[in-house]
Amino acid sequence: KKFVYLFREGQASMRDLLGGKGANLAEMTNIGLPVPPGFTITTEACNDYYAGGRNFPEGLWEQIGPALADIENATGKTFGDKDNPLLVSVRSGAKFSMPGMMDTILNLGLNDDTVEGLATSTQNERFAYDSYRRFIQMFGDVVLEVEHHEFEKILEDAKEKQSVHYDSELTAESLKGVVAGYKKLIQRRTGSPFPLDPMKQLEQAILAVFRSWNNDRANVYRRINGIPDDIGTAVNVQSMVFGNMGNDSGTGVAFTRNPSTGERALYGEYLMNAQGEDVVAGIRTPQPIKSLEDENKAIYAQFVETSNSLEAHYRDMQDIEFTIERGRLYILQTRNGKRTAPAAIRVAVELCWEGVISKEEAIARIEPGQLGQLLHRRMDSEAKLEVIAKGLPASPGAASGKIIFDADDAERLGHAGEKVLLVRTETTPDDIHGILAAQGILTSRGGMTSHAAVVARHMGKPAVCGCEALRIDYTHNTVTIDGVTYPEGTLFSIDGATGRVIKGEVPMIDPELSEEFKELLGWADEIRTLKVLANADNPRDAQKARDFGAQGIGLCRTEHMFMDPARIPIVQDMILAQTLPEREEALAKLLPMQEEDFYGILKVMAGFPVTIRLLDPPLHEFLPNVEELVVDITKLKMKGDHEEELYEKEALLRKVRALSEMNPMLGHRGCRLGITFPEIYAMQARAIFQASAHLVKEGYEIYPEVMIPLVIHVKELAKLRKVTEEAAQAVMAEQGVTFSYTIGTMIEVPRAALTADEVATAADFFSFGTNDLTQTTLGFSRDDAEGKFLPAYLEQNILENNPFAVLDRNGVGKLMKMGVKLGREANPDLKVGICGEHGGDPSSIEFCHQIGLNYVSCSPFRVPIARLAAAQAAV
Ligand code: PEP
Ligand code: MG
Repeated sequence: KKFVYLFREGQASMRDLLGGKGANLAEMTNIGLPVPPGFTITTEACNDYYAGGRNFPEGLWEQIGPALADIENATGKTFGDKDNPLLVSVRSGAKFSMPGMMDTILNLGLNDDTVEGLATSTQNERFAYDSYRRFIQMFGDVVLEVEHHEFEKILEDAKEKQSVHYDSELTAESLKGVVAGYKKLIQRRTGSPFPLDPMKQLEQAILAVFRSWNNDRANVYRRINGIPDDIGTAVNVQSMVFGNMGNDSGTGVAFTRNPSTGERALYGEYLMNAQGEDVVAGIRTPQPIKSLEDENKAIYAQFVETSNSLEAHYRDMQDIEFTIERGRLYILQTRNGKRTAPAAIRVAVELCWEGVISKEEAIARIEPGQLGQLLHRRMDSEAKLEVIAKGLPASPGAASGKIIFDADDAERLGHAGEKVLLVRTETTPDDIHGILAAQGILTSRGGMTSHAAVVARHMGKPAVCGCEALRIDYTHNTVTIDGVTYPEGTLFSIDGATGRVIKGEVPMIDPELSEEFKELLGWADEIRTLKVLANADNPRDAQKARDFGAQGIGLCRTEHMFMDPARIPIVQDMILAQTLPEREEALAKLLPMQEEDFYGILKVMAGFPVTIRLLDPPLHEFLPNVEELVVDITKLKMKGDHEEELYEKEALLRKVRALSEMNPMLGHRGCRLGITFPEIYAMQARAIFQASAHLVKEGYEIYPEVMIPLVIHVKELAKLRKVTEEAAQAVMAEQGVTFSYTIGTMIEVPRAALTADEVATAADFFSFGTNDLTQTTLGFSRDDAEGKFLPAYLEQNILENNPFAVLDRNGVGKLMKMGVKLGREANPDLKVGICGEHGGDPSSIEFCHQIGLNYVSCSPFRVPIARLAAAQAAV
């Protein structure tokens, strides 16, 4: 098996085998960019390592020697040579980018001899020993698993001893002391000396990278990002170039466009006389890339040209790592840059305008899940803010929460439902779980490309970084800003769009769509075949949905209208009525209220269909709580002398108890209410049609659709269809107008799907209520599963996704497919859609497109996401 590929032997399409980084290095090499020479060990070798019980893959070592010789040839340096030593970096690189999750080792090949060679060949002893101590530290930490802070302690001691502030001020003599201290530490902690043989170092480093594929944070990252566990990582071995060889050397990272806004302008940072991790870890605050022009015009010009050609080559915004060694530019890495949702949209739209990509490609480039952040709220600019500090606007959006200084605490509190802001000097991949649970991130160090900034942008979390006014005290869990100390738990807000840090909570306002976003959605509308409707129960939400481009209402839940505190007593009278006349009296009071509700929604949605579902939930949901009633009764008894009131309450308690059910979700709800109390549905139908008549008279074009929930049998639907039609006929006769309307049903119980051919004979449309259909197909209570056992199902990989969020295609999806097929066979004009939560989930929308639904319906804020996802499903 060929385990080792020189960079010039690979290409961009070999990501499976060479990993993303390796494939890119190969591609860049082949298009003639200044890439330091090297080779890639394949992901197959990593998989062999695991398959072979974590042993060095057989046959690999033999291929490394010749590859190394090739690098030696290209650089004129020799591995392990004490005069002109070749040093290499050893880095992980999986098929999918997993920034900072796995291990990297730099300066490999240094030992007590080669360090001298490096010192002479570069005429810079300080630099040589600095590289050596960095190497031992990284190797010790990553390969030998000696704690990072133990090395830091030795370094701090050296700085103290020399009375200096920064690492870069340490002399060669001090650094030699640090090296000796590091070696002793390693001997003490591991029981063996630090390995001086470069070949041994290389072997161990490769093994460590393989091992790091399975470290905790890599596993968590893969789980969050849906990356498979069995694809392994490649290992890239590349000759080192040095950004720390003096003031004509440096290192940096840059994006070809602004990753926050998408603006077409070079965007990034660099540090002179430094190595890569100094920039990424945010240990020193770097300079903006623009100032490189002042520092070195020629290098800057070369960099601009290179970045333009990289973007043109990859046809997307690039994130480039570069190093300048003694005035010479090297490109270490390029990849499609991570970006915020607004940037993703602007870049895609502008690349299309620039003629680089097609509309279809522009659409396919947007991750619909990421759009959630655009539909996030931001700070009300009218609000009075107590701005206490300002940092870099690292990831847009605004967040408020209690300040917490530890990732574990942030995770714990976040899971307990608290809103927290994670506040750190800087973040590392070890903090990822805390970042995930926090509303936002605030750091005192690091730039726009620091770990916190990159991760936050990717997750769509607001972040403010490099806020240097913060003095964080981890011992006492406080932060001091301008002399004022705030303890853990203080409420702060951050504005990731401006970098402001604000004391207290801030009012937020709803988002609006940018011009580029509207343009992109316009393209999506040209491409998609699925219609996108919204779930809304009031005119305000209906208007929002319309503004976001909804083509109607796919679900208006009428029970939400019954919950109004002014109406609840009347609703209770309706439920508790003992006789029909009593019930009709209550219904007569509700009729004008419902009519007004429907009038408002139909009017806002004029020109589009509005699907109104008749009453669905169990009646006891509207009734007083049993425990509260019992408490009231007990109190009355203790007081005595309140007989009449007591009698009434006791009667109420008896009725409430009589209505209570063991399994309300499987009980007296949905159209079963219409079967037992047809007068309720008759009232609702009348309210819909009276509102319709009213609007028709006013000249509005309206399309009411009446939807019957929880049907299991065609006879239920036929019966309730009749009740509805009678109401329509009566209203038309009374009002002297005609209007058209349709009657359909929800498919949310397996029997309805299984007998869809029968049900369809009485239906104009079907709407899959996949919340209930998932609940009834899996037999998972939708109210309890997520909190109780579902996490175990996900952790043990029994289910791949939460079936209430992402449609279970093989189970529930099969019933849907059957429902569509049987339904359309019996009724070719049948319109079919979905109105469960899945109607707003991109993956589920794809499935809905595939099985030929006519529309999806989702919450108003998800309408833009659904429009895009529907287009992606169609391309
Ligand atoms: C459903 O069951 O999918 C549905 C939309 O109805 P509800 O969530 O109101 O039960
Ligand atoms: Mg339902």
